[in-house]
Amino acid sequence: MLKSLDEMQFDNRFTRDLPADPDTSNRRREVLGACFARVSPTHVKSPSLVAYAREVGEELDLSPKICESSAFVDVFSGNSLLANMEPYATCYGGHQFGNWAGQLGDGRAINLGEIVNREGKRWALQLKGAGPTPFSRSADGLAVLRSSVREFLCSEAMYHLGVPTTRALSLMLTGEQVVREMFYDGNAQPEPGAVVCRVAPSFTRFGTFQIFSARGDIALLRQFVDYTIGTDFPHLGNPSKAVYLEWFEEVCQKTLTMVLHWERVGFVHGVMNTDNMSILGLTIDYGPYGWLEDYDPNWTPNTTDAGGRRYRFGNQAEVGLWNLIQLAQGIYPLIEEAEPLEKILENYKKEHVIKQGQMMAVKLGLTQYESVTDAPLIEELLQVLQVAETDMTIFFRNLANINAHDLGSENQDSQKTDLEDQSDEFLLAPLMEAYYHPDALGTKEKSRIAHWLRQYINRLNQDDVSHEDKYNSMNAVNPKYVLRNYLAQLAIDKSEQGDHSMVNELLEVLRKPYEEQEGKASFAEKRPEWARNRAGCSMLSCSS
Ligand code: AMP
Ligand code: MG
Repeated sequence: MLKSLDEMQFDNRFTRDLPADPDTSNRRREVLGACFARVSPTHVKSPSLVAYAREVGEELDLSPKICESSAFVDVFSGNSLLANMEPYATCYGGHQFGNWAGQLGDGRAINLGEIVNREGKRWALQLKGAGPTPFSRSADGLAVLRSSVREFLCSEAMYHLGVPTTRALSLMLTGEQVVREMFYDGNAQPEPGAVVCRVAPSFTRFGTFQIFSARGDIALLRQFVDYTIGTDFPHLGNPSKAVYLEWFEEVCQKTLTMVLHWERVGFVHGVMNTDNMSILGLTIDYGPYGWLEDYDPNWTPNTTDAGGRRYRFGNQAEVGLWNLIQLAQGIYPLIEEAEPLEKILENYKKEHVIKQGQMMAVKLGLTQYESVTDAPLIEELLQVLQVAETDMTIFFRNLANINAHDLGSENQDSQKTDLEDQSDEFLLAPLMEAYYHPDALGTKEKSRIAHWLRQYINRLNQDDVSHEDKYNSMNAVNPKYVLRNYLAQLAIDKSEQGDHSMVNELLEVLRKPYEEQEGKASFAEKRPEWARNRAGCSMLSCSS
C-alpha cells in the first residue's frame, strides 16, 4: 500500500505510444489524425466524497485512509493533478440506435493516466463528469448525482456478481449545480453535479476502431489495432493478418460472455451503441440501464428507446452481434477478406445458443446441459416466467429451495411421495413470493407452472447430486441481491438530500450478492407498487 497519493506511479502508455492532437484547448472540434486530445479537468467549487469502493482502492494500492483524505477528494473530483498524470480525452465514433453518428469521443470523460499496481496489473483511471472536452459537442461535459450514483453502484454490483465490467473508485459531489431535462420534455431542473472515477484495464470501444476506418485513416487504424493487441491482448503475439482474426474472434467471445452474464443476472444495458461496447467485453457506460423485475424479454428501461425497443433484454445478444458486424467492417481494411470474418460471426450465433442453454442449465442446478431434453425444458420455463408477472431474481433464488429428492417420483425411497400426487399449490408454494399478484394466479396458470415444475423435478432427479450441493451451486449463480431499480432511486433521493448512507449501505450489501445477509431482507424484496411507473425506477432516459 502507498503511504500517500503522491506516491502513485503513472505509466501512461496510451499517451506515449499513440498520436495526440496538437491543440490542447477544450474547444469543440473534429479531432483528426490523432487518438486523443490533451485536456484538463474543470475546477469545481467545493467537492466532497459521497462514497468510494475500498476494493478498487486496494487494486490501486490505495488504503482506506488515503481514500478518506481530503487530497483524495481533490484529485478524484478533478481539482488537482498528481505528478505524471496526463489528462486526455479519447476520440471515438459509433453507431447510435443503428445509425452511424460520426465522431463522439470522451465528451465528459477525462482520462488521468495509467498505473501499474504492486502485482504488475495495469489500470487506467478516468473521471466522468469533469468538464468539457473537444468531444463534448453541444453538451457541458458534466454529470449529475443521480446518474453518477447509478454508475458507481452498478459497476461495483456487477463486479461482485462476477459480470465483466469497468469499476468505480469514487463518487464525488462537485458542490455545483447542473441543469438537466430528465425526460427531454422542456422541464429543466438544477441537480447536484457529481464526478465518478472509473477504473478499467482499458476504456477502448468498438467505436474507436470505427472512427479511424470511417475516415479512411487506415494507417491510424492499424496503429491503434496493433497498440490494442500489444497492450490488452498481449498473449496473441505480434500483429499479422492471422493475429487480427484471432483478436476479432476473442473480442466476439468476450462480448458474448458479457451478454450471457447479463442474461443470467437480468441486466438490461439500455444503450448498446457501438461507442458503448468495450473491446475487452466489459460492461461500460452505465446510463439508462435497468434490472428485470418481472421477467419480460421485451423490457427496456430506456425511454429514449421505447419506440423500437432495440436494446430490450431479450435482444442483447442479437445487438451484440450487430455491433460486432460493425466492428468487423471497421477492421476489414486490415484483413481485406470477408469470409474469415463472416465465419467468426456465424460462430457467435451458434455459440450463443449453446452457451445460453448451458448458462440456464447452471441456473437450474443441472450438472450438465443435455440439449435434446433440456432445451425444451428451458424454453417452457421462459414461457412459464411470463404467464404471470414474476420476479426473475426471487424466482430463481427460491427455485433452489425445491428439494427434488423429497418430491421425486423416480426415487425409490419409501419415504418419498409421488410427484404426480402433489397438488399444484403444494409445488408452487416455495415460488409464490416471486409473483407480483399471487392472488390473481388462476388455475390454468398454476397448472402450467406446476406442470413445468414436475418436469424440472424429474430432470433434477436424473442427476446424481445431493440437494445441498445443487442448492449451493444454484445460489452461487442466482443472486439474492441485485441493484433493483427502485433501490437505486431511493438511495439517490436520500443522497440528493445530503444523506449518503443508503448509497454506502447498498454498496455493502451488493458486495455479497449471493449470500443471505441478516437484516437485509428489504434489499431482496419485489419492487413495491409505488415504484411501478415512477421516473428513475422503471423509466430512464439518456439524460444524465
Ligand atoms: P452516451 O449515450 O452516454 O454513451 O453518450 C454518447 C456521447 O455523448 C459520448 O460521446 C459522450 O461522451 C457524450 N456525452 C453524453 N453526455 C454528455 C455531456 N453531458 N457532455 C458532453 N458529452 C456528453
Ligand atoms: Mg457512452
